Amino acid sequence: MLDDVATDLDEPGTDEVGTDEVGTDEPTGPTFADLGLRAEVLRALDGLGYEAPTPIQAESIRPLLAGADLLGQAATGTGKTAAFALPLLEHVPAGGGRTPVALVVVPTRELALQVARAVTRYGQHVGAKVLAVYGGTPIGRQLRDLERGVDVVVATPGRALDLIGRGALRLDDVRTVVLDEADEMLDMGFTEDIEEILSAAPAERQTVLFSATMPSRIERIARQHQREPVRIRIAKEATPEGEAPRVRQTAYLVGRPHKVAALGRVLDLEQPTAAIVFCRTREDVDTITERLGARGYRAEALHGGISQEQRDKVVSRLRAGAAQLIVATDVAARGLDIDQLSHVVNFDVPAAAESYVHRIGRVGRAGREGVALTLAEPRERRQLSNVERLTGVPITVAPLPSVADLRAHRLSVTQTAVAGALADGREDLERVRGALDALLSEHSAEDVALAALALAHAAQGAVDDQEIPAPELRPQRSRTDGPRGRDGERPGRGPAVRGGRPVSKATAPGNTRLFVGVGRAAGVRPGDLVGAIANESSVRGKDIGAIEITERFSLVEVPAGAADDVVSALRGSTIKGRRAQVRLDRDVAAR
Ligand code: AMP
Repeated sequence: MLDDVATDLDEPGTDEVGTDEVGTDEPTGPTFADLGLRAEVLRALDGLGYEAPTPIQAESIRPLLAGADLLGQAATGTGKTAAFALPLLEHVPAGGGRTPVALVVVPTRELALQVARAVTRYGQHVGAKVLAVYGGTPIGRQLRDLERGVDVVVATPGRALDLIGRGALRLDDVRTVVLDEADEMLDMGFTEDIEEILSAAPAERQTVLFSATMPSRIERIARQHQREPVRIRIAKEATPEGEAPRVRQTAYLVGRPHKVAALGRVLDLEQPTAAIVFCRTREDVDTITERLGARGYRAEALHGGISQEQRDKVVSRLRAGAAQLIVATDVAARGLDIDQLSHVVNFDVPAAAESYVHRIGRVGRAGREGVALTLAEPRERRQLSNVERLTGVPITVAPLPSVADLRAHRLSVTQTAVAGALADGREDLERVRGALDALLSEHSAEDVALAALALAHAAQGAVDDQEIPAPELRPQRSRTDGPRGRDGERPGRGPAVRGGRPVSKATAPGNTRLFVGVGRAAGVRPGDLVGAIANESSVRGKDIGAIEITERFSLVEVPAGAADDVVSALRGSTIKGRRAQVRLDRDVAAR
């Protein structure tokens, strides 16, 4: 999905997003060889099984080989590391040299290690010597390694400056400086360090800047330190038409008091192999880690109060499968990049939409499937819409799984496990043959199978049977709105239906009522209507009045002056995936 996605950003929920650049089976893009990379690098790519360049590689490599500066907006998972790493290997003399030809600056130690590993792999047949240098570890070894001669240095900003200051990291021969995840570095307060590093590098160098988001701070650095950079923008997902997006994004609306229970429920249903649960505060991290531990999850906490050593252990436990969940703050999780990650769970909607993008950038990598789940309080719906606007990808708002959902899911897991055991062959099963024969002498085969299935199912553990209440999604009303409905009835809460048609109540002063031709049968909840109206029209959520939902249709009160706007906006959009008839309610229209 390329540049023109920008034009779709204002329309979350539309079908067109991401379908314009893909969807043909014809391999149309260039091959790695077409891009002009050296033979040793092509051989390494072949060995790694990379068949074709990803879109960002196809666009970046040629201009980079030609020596151009580049300003790239791309998230992790797009293949951006190879996009900048492959061209810089062109400058490494065969067999490796002595002084660095490239400096890659990254925000965190994890990313430094990861990028260095990638460059080493890509440069294995060139003989490139690649070194990661980062803070938080003794500098002596890094000094010695630099002394021995290195071709590519991957560094965190502070340590890079330290080493430059000591004369150990010499930039005289550096042809390319790469700033990777530049927005993260600026967020972490490295602006001055970056400026200093760039000033210390030769003026004739090539400057490559990658950032997941492109705030004005990045543009400013680009203006000051780059020369007519080639601009490339790649959205993370390229979802061919008719295919589900690789990152399934779902938000569950849940009231604050029920959030921890909701998290447990969602995890029980999803059973992630490896997940990060993001929380806002250190206290949340500790509480949630403890509660998930009590629920039987192998959960590890990661926050600012945790030592680097402990952090490394936590990450390797997740990588090795010894831990299942990392519960982390954004800051602590910076630079964490774990290939096995199946799920990212947002315990809260992050305040900045960019943080959401960073968080979910950790799943759905390189064509794998990923899941991003968000627990949103009703008041956080606006933030969800902001995220949708930024990414251009709709987030499905779903009801929390019920106890019945969970039970049904567990049963299907048992069923799949039994079917799997049968498919795997008889060897293991034969070990219990003696017991089966004994049972069959007294019971029918069907009864025995039933009992065995029930036991296998029970062995999965108990399902928590506490229903979690759906939050009240009544929009707030202004003080002038008067009482909520008649007789103290709360219209937003549910249908007040008599004879198949809601009782026609007077609307609040200044409001009018709209008829929307979808209702409970289509799974519509008040939040869907509020979301659709607030997202699509000029009316804000808090200005929406009473909502009634019946089986087949819904009635929504909106400010009279904005009714036309809402009607035309909703006609052009979908609610719960359906295009609905929307008009002024007849009862009101007749008045
Ligand atoms: P990155 O966005 O650089 O973190 O890369 C994401 C993942 O994609 C990494 O695991 C890379 O090894 C992989 N990758 C990068 N380029 C390609 C490619 N052209 N073909 C297949 N996998 C790739």
